[in-house]
Amino acid sequence: MKQETKLVTAEELKEQRFFIQKVRAVTHVYDHIPLAHVHSYGCQQNVSDGEKIKGMLAEMGYGFTDDAENADLVLFNTCAVRENAEDRVFGNIGALKHYKKRRPDMIIAVCGCMVQQEHIAQRMKKTFPFVDIIFGTHVLHKFPEILYSVLSTEKRVVEIPDSAGVIAEGLPVRRDSKFKASVPIMYGCNNFCTYCIVPYVRGRERSRSAEEVISEVKGLIEQGYKDILLLGQNVNSYGKGTDVDFAELLRRLDCFEGEYKISFMTSHPKDCTHELIDTIADSKHISWHLHLPVQSGSDRILKLMNRCYNREKYLELVNYAKARIPDLMLTTDIIVGFPGETYEDFCDTLSLMKEVGYDSAYTFIYSRREGTKAAEMEDPVSDEEKGKWFRELLEVQGECGENAYKKYVGRKMRILCEGRGRSRDGYYTGKSRQNIIVDFNGTEDMIGKFVDVEITEALNWALIGKLI
Ligand code: SF4
Repeated sequence: MKQETKLVTAEELKEQRFFIQKVRAVTHVYDHIPLAHVHSYGCQQNVSDGEKIKGMLAEMGYGFTDDAENADLVLFNTCAVRENAEDRVFGNIGALKHYKKRRPDMIIAVCGCMVQQEHIAQRMKKTFPFVDIIFGTHVLHKFPEILYSVLSTEKRVVEIPDSAGVIAEGLPVRRDSKFKASVPIMYGCNNFCTYCIVPYVRGRERSRSAEEVISEVKGLIEQGYKDILLLGQNVNSYGKGTDVDFAELLRRLDCFEGEYKISFMTSHPKDCTHELIDTIADSKHISWHLHLPVQSGSDRILKLMNRCYNREKYLELVNYAKARIPDLMLTTDIIVGFPGETYEDFCDTLSLMKEVGYDSAYTFIYSRREGTKAAEMEDPVSDEEKGKWFRELLEVQGECGENAYKKYVGRKMRILCEGRGRSRDGYYTGKSRQNIIVDFNGTEDMIGKFVDVEITEALNWALIGKLI
């Protein structure tokens, strides 16, 4: 499928800069610096969008607070992937009603994937009349204009265009970390896995230009960033039909001076190639981590999910990757209780998990998403039964994780220290080139730096080590 790319023009961005100044002029007369509370739910892509929203707010003169009650603006950047996350958002918005009653000038905004769904947007409009702004994923770059409209007219704005999506380059970003940065390389998805809402709320696949991505990553490394995470719903589709596909992009990002690490997510097994695995194996800076969501070990269920690979192809890929990158960290996503899944199908997932021996797995009970194909399928297995299968899977994964990590005991690893650890009092934590969590006896000044650690113990979710 040809990728459609609609770039936000320089003229449109200039217009938004004009609204940034207009908002500044409004908030300038406040007797305090206006404070924003921005909360992003869900995946890394959403967190990255949240950093852009914060970047725009900072340019509009806002400071930031963790305390929603005392904020001048509260913004929830929502996620639509699972129903329980949506329920949480509804609950959290409901709780803002009292704050707004006490402070009618507080601006409440909701954006992101959840509101991009028609039925949710309607519910939101009716149930929460005190929400001032509701805007979808395709107009993120127009946030200054939307905010100015509400501040100047005191009228609610609902803007949720059903567009194929855009790419807006050059938006300000306020990064949450001084040494870790995420860089979206593509947006949207063309795959229409039958359980997934993403193609409906994020639009079709579109890649940023290689020049833009390379220049952003280079700039980040020059500023001292050490850990770069490339983001896309299916990064293996990056640049399809152009000179720079994903493997080539990685090669070009691997050749800067200095010590840094490049990771990426997410890979789709149907598009993951031997060339990509070879590129990782031969690189200096690309993380030895492959997140390869299998979703199910049953060919029948994979077909119903429209995943376009089978167990055999998946295992071939995994075996190739393990042979080429001996210290590879392999992680996955698994859905338990997909509509029509039987216990036999589930046992195929269990056996695949044992055969692969994942280092770690994100496991979920199937969540019905209105508007997807799977939502129309018969789903006769009870929640209780699915819960039992889920616990069985967790147990097997726990064993796999511990076995996978044992081989590192006694070895030396280079770790990027990220902050305080949670396995032991006084320990610090970081990640290895494989992105394995390593807790060790570090010190505060090591945060954001690479250090050498000798591994002394393996847990089923992390390693413990001592500084060398
Ligand atoms: S590849 Fe499938 S699961 Fe992933 S975002 Fe696209 S449709 Fe959803």
